[in-house]
Amino acid sequence: MSVYIPDDVKERVRQQAGNRCGYCRSRQEYVLGFLEIDHIIPTARGGSDGEDNLWLACRLCNHYKGMQTHGRDPLTGRRVRLFNPRKQRWSQHFRWSEDGLYIVGRAACGRATVVALNLNNLIAEMVRRKWIEAGWHPPKDWGNMTRVSLPAQPDRLAFARGVRVFWRRNEV
Ligand SMILES: [Zn+2]
Repeated sequence: MSVYIPDDVKERVRQQAGNRCGYCRSRQEYVLGFLEIDHIIPTARGGSDGEDNLWLACRLCNHYKGMQTHGRDPLTGRRVRLFNPRKQRWSQHFRWSEDGLYIVGRAACGRATVVALNLNNLIAEMVRRKWIEAGWHPPKDWGNMTRVSLPAQPDRLAFARGVRVFWRRNEV
């Protein structure tokens, strides 16, 4: 466990992380507990208390991450390093399912992290469902989606077929 992290470092990390969990992207204002300072490489595995090894994580992600540094990609069975929220971009490794309920790994690192951190656990799914009802989710600026305005003439056929016309992918 951490020996001591100065308050100014914690505050800086919180700002760098945008007050969101680096893994499931939950925002501080949407969760009741304080987002926690996460050791990207756990101290028990040789990670330091230095700022470059710190990020923000929600209680659930921190709990599920535990002492893990690697995970197994469910598709290939390969053991890979977990996502590093400080060095890697979330949107390059994950995306939201179309309904916003689930985080989907784009490649091995993302897929392994989804499994290792249980990013689609039952509580997360339950809470996201409510966020969607409240209009807070899926996020407009996290991940790969951008909200686009509704067409002046809604495509009734598209609606009838259940085609989602409200969201489009950002150009990467
Ligand atoms: Zn989280």
